[in-house]
This record gives sequence, C-alpha cells and structure tokens, in this order.
Amino acid sequence: MIQIDGAKGEGGGQILRTSLAMSMATGQPFRIVNIRAARPKPGLMRQHLTCVLAAAEICGAQVTGASVGSAIVEFSPGKPKAGEYVFRIGTAGGTMLVLQAVLPALLRVEGRSTIRVEGGTHAKAAPPFEFFERCLMPLLNRCGASVRARLERRGFYPAGGGSVFIEVEPSSGVKPLELLERGEFRGSRATVILSRLPHEIADRELAVLRGRLSLDESGLQVVHVEQAVGPGNALAVEYEYEHLTEVFSAMGEPGRRAESVAEEAANAVRNYLRGGRPVGPHLADQLMTPLCLLAGGRYATGPLTEHSRTNIEVLRQFGGEVAASDDGVIEVAPLNE
Ligand code: ATP
Repeated sequence: MIQIDGAKGEGGGQILRTSLAMSMATGQPFRIVNIRAARPKPGLMRQHLTCVLAAAEICGAQVTGASVGSAIVEFSPGKPKAGEYVFRIGTAGGTMLVLQAVLPALLRVEGRSTIRVEGGTHAKAAPPFEFFERCLMPLLNRCGASVRARLERRGFYPAGGGSVFIEVEPSSGVKPLELLERGEFRGSRATVILSRLPHEIADRELAVLRGRLSLDESGLQVVHVEQAVGPGNALAVEYEYEHLTEVFSAMGEPGRRAESVAEEAANAVRNYLRGGRPVGPHLADQLMTPLCLLAGGRYATGPLTEHSRTNIEVLRQFGGEVAASDDGVIEVAPLNE
C-alpha cells in the first residue's frame, strides 16, 4: 500500500485528490495520513469527503476513514466503470475539485460516462466553472480526450446549490500536449457574475479592471444570475491566444470590498502577462495528472508553485514520471498501462 503524507509541501486537499485519481487509474491502494494538515481546519471537509466517496463509487473501492474531519483514509480501488454518476457535496465546496479527483481515471475507461456534481461552482481557492470549460477542458480534448461540460446552475459561497454536468466519451486516440508558447493574441474578456447583489458592485469591479488592464470594451459583460440559491459575486477574466485560453478569477464574499476582488484578478492577469509563459500557475498544477493518464506532454509555466511541486511528488509516488526544469518547463511521461 502506497503511504501518502498529507502534511507534505502544500499540505492541502490536492494531495488527496491526486492520490485518488492515480489510485483509481493504476489500481494501486494507498493510505493517506495527516490529511490537509497545513490548513486551519485539517482533515476531510465535505468537498474532500465527496471526492473519496465519488472515487470509491466509480471504481468499487474499499475505504476506511471516510467521514468529515477524518485525517486518515485507506483506499483500495477496484476497476473504474463508466456510468451515470451524481455527487452532492452538500456545501459550497468546489465542484471542479471533485472532478480533479474523478475525471482523470474516467478518461481511460471504455464507455461513456456522465457526472453531475452539485455544490459550489464559484468557490474561493478553487477553479471556477469558466476555468474548466474555457481553459483546462479544451487542452484535455486537444490531447484526445472527449469531454463536454455544462453549467446547470451557479452556486456561490456560502449557500452552494450549484450544479455542473460533465460528459466523457471514450477517447479515439491520445496524443501528447506540446504547449511551450501562447501563440498569437486573439482577445480578452471579463465577466462579472452577480447573484442577488446590486449592479453597483459590477461597476466598481469593472472600473478597477479598466484601470489595471487593457481590456477590449466589447468583451466586458455583467451576468445577473436569477436562479442561484444564495447571493454571490464572481469575476472571470479570459485571455485568448492561438494555443490556449487562460482564465483568471476572484470571488466576492461577505465583508470583502468589490475593489479588492477585482484587484486580485487583475494582479493574477498582470503576473501572467509579465511572465510570458503560456501556462499560468493554477493550470500548471492541474494539467499534470490528466497528462500522466493521457499521452503525457510538455508545457512551459512560470516558477513552480508549492501546489505544483507537491503534486509532482504525489504523482511520482504512484509511478508517474514528471520532471520540471529550472526554466519552468514541465515534462510529463505517459503512465504505462
Ligand atoms: P484545502 O487546501 O483547504 O484542502 P482545497 O481542497 O481547495 O483546499 P488545494 O490543495 O488548495 O485544495 O487545491 C486547490 C486547487 O484549486 C488547486 O489545483 C489550484 O490550482 C486550484 N485553484 C485555486 N484557485 C484557482 C483559480 N482561481 N483558478 C483555477 N484554479 C484554482
């Protein structure tokens, strides 16, 4: 049984999600201790518990320690099966993070799967739906995956209540990713999403973005959400290039000034533009697990984040071969069957 220390490096939930993804795909059982030891509320929260239960359902795993607050989980996988799955987080926990755990293994399974995940679609410190749909998913599909995504309902912190629907078809042939340059610039867009909050918040956020970034005026939009369970505010800024679209985001929350939300997104964009590399820091840590399970590849990013460094270590424990050069090129070898 592979022994994983959840306190290492970043010490967050991604260590668990990557372990689940690799265990499901390779059939290797693992035991993780010190789950999320570096976080203020360590152990499994609802989102992480949902990841464990979802992974177990898909591959018929035997699991111990699957309860809220648990710091130790043992996971002995069976063979992942295609199916029609529904996973409910029950809080505003990130739906895209549940996908981080279960999608990679489903990319290799014969047969079509559908996955509905209910929870937060625009949660703090997690990829928003737009990041998955516009940035990560198209790159996976370029490597031969066949994934479609639909946002059924937005769900914000703290009420949750969002829903995403993902379809995965079997791949008809995979190829390595080669993403060393952005290519030609095609345009930028910024979307302010508001649910049950005054329009003035959007005006203030857009004012900050206009001041900090040179955005196409025609690409600025405000979306008022009608059917969300609770109030919420999210901001997504997209930069489209020939070889990828990068998405930067920030989330409003009670007590946080609109200007600070927009500054966070603008800072992320400016760092990206200054860096000159195609792959931003969040995409960098999220590409490597699926690439291990597709046909591998190479991509250029900036200085490695703690998330990326930690993820490389976890992948290696499951036999993944991932190397990062000093100049920020990450090379992922395809995992042998
Ligand atoms: P915790 O660490 O509290 O357990 P967590 O389960 O959210 O929280 P982390 O280990 O921090 O786990 O991982 C968060 C993941 O979300 C990482 O893959 C990170 O790249 C991604 N992420 C965070 N913010 C964004 C964002 N704005 N856009 C895209 N991805 C993001």
